[in-house]
Amino acid sequence: MLKVKENIFIKTATDIQAIRESGKILSKLHGEISKMVAVGVKTLDLDIFAEKFILDHNATPSFKGYKGSQGSIAFPASLCISVNSVVVHGLPNHYILKDGDVISVDCGVFYNGFHADSAYTYRVGNIKPEVEKLLDETYTALIKGIAKCKSGNRIGDISHEIQSHAEKFGYGIVRELVGHGVGRKLHEAPEVPNFGKQGKGPKLMNGMVIAIEPMVTMGKRTVKQEKDGWTIKTTDGLPSAHFEHTVGIVDGKPEALTTFDYIVESQKVNYNG
Ligand code: MG
Ligand code: MG
Repeated sequence: MLKVKENIFIKTATDIQAIRESGKILSKLHGEISKMVAVGVKTLDLDIFAEKFILDHNATPSFKGYKGSQGSIAFPASLCISVNSVVVHGLPNHYILKDGDVISVDCGVFYNGFHADSAYTYRVGNIKPEVEKLLDETYTALIKGIAKCKSGNRIGDISHEIQSHAEKFGYGIVRELVGHGVGRKLHEAPEVPNFGKQGKGPKLMNGMVIAIEPMVTMGKRTVKQEKDGWTIKTTDGLPSAHFEHTVGIVDGKPEALTTFDYIVESQKVNYNG
């Protein structure tokens, strides 16, 4: 692993393979969570399942015990579970999911010395069409951002792509939280904001691995933190969405090291009975 510029680590092919493997465990976990999310389920039970799943794969939950820049309170769970107006960093608890909720499940897996980080916003039962649209367009913003993650581009190209897509629909882009480098540490340089200008910021190059994670609000983009030291909510109480992949630059092009394929697969099974 070569260190270029300040704190940006360039990964070797072996390092990227390790992240691919962490990412596979994480992606399979999302497939299982997808099957479990339903009306009547307690969010704490999703977290208990996730922790066991990760440990059973000889891996470690990246988030449990994590002390962020938000303060000294260690994160108590393996999943961040953020329901409706909670944008990110929600704590699993005794809340019972109800019809029409949307629930962002963010998770990190540490395996063979490397982390992977991925989030998906799940639908609970039947959600309102305008919320459905928010989720679809946030997902599309992620995919469009990933497409800009190639050698020679800059971080700002990703940021601008995500921002311009989300703002086309009048949605808000959260400014206080950003994507990040991923590697031996869960959060590395560079920061990957979901807003910014084309051609600005650090240059992208082969071997960089970053988490791209648009956090998009249906109304105002302003957020507030709850007294628990973690939970971030929209100030207007409107819903938000969050989708995240860990992406490496391989042969000059983006390669998602996490995938939602297991989620899509599990949902097909559900629909087909
Ligand atoms: Mg995450
Ligand atoms: Mg992240």
